[in-house]
Amino acid sequence: MTSDPFETAAVNEYQRSLNDIGKLKSTLAPLQKSYQRFDKIIATSIEDSPTKPACKAGCFYCCYYKVEVKAHEMLLIHEHMQKKLSAELRSQILECAKANAELIRSFTAQEHLSTNLKCPFLIENQCSIYEARPFRCRSFHAVQVDGCEASYNNPSDFTIATELIPDVSHYSDALSQGFEAAAMDAGFDHRTYDLNTALLEVFEDPAIEKRYKRGKKAFKTAIEVVDAEE
Ligand code: SF4
Repeated sequence: MTSDPFETAAVNEYQRSLNDIGKLKSTLAPLQKSYQRFDKIIATSIEDSPTKPACKAGCFYCCYYKVEVKAHEMLLIHEHMQKKLSAELRSQILECAKANAELIRSFTAQEHLSTNLKCPFLIENQCSIYEARPFRCRSFHAVQVDGCEASYNNPSDFTIATELIPDVSHYSDALSQGFEAAAMDAGFDHRTYDLNTALLEVFEDPAIEKRYKRGKKAFKTAIEVVDAEE
């Protein structure tokens, strides 16, 4: 048994999620449960930290960064949008995703990283899918707003550093990786997709869920993000 608290958190999250996925034969309700555990552990980690995040409602800089999602995260966002958002808001979000996707498809990977694009879910400087936002958004935080503002104003300058709370970052990685490893070991698509193109496809192709449940590549036209280590 390891004494590393982050490794322990990752292993616990993996086992609980694998168990939930096996019982419920789906990843969506288990993902919601994993998000709840994640939020609790991160809140405790922030409470225990002498430094605090500068993040607050209405601050939007990080919502102009490139956002990536796993297939199960986009399927949960889709379910959330159908249940909780008005048809008018959904079409406003999809219009923005469409405009972003046209630009993204013309970009190189480097241009995508160095261009500010408003996340389609950012409405009046608030996340319109806050309860269903993906792990990457839940993980992001900063101790000083200056770095976020500087990155926003100079998106191609990758030397600008954002000061993070180490324990919050380590728990975020441990917990999200714990869930993702469980979904992968249960046989579901574990690829990473660009958020805008995946959002358009999830509304266009009802067969995505079927492919996902069969362990196949769920998204066919969304841009797949290949991790550097793959
Ligand atoms: S999903 Fe929400 S939190 Fe994440 S980038 Fe978009 S608006 Fe921001």
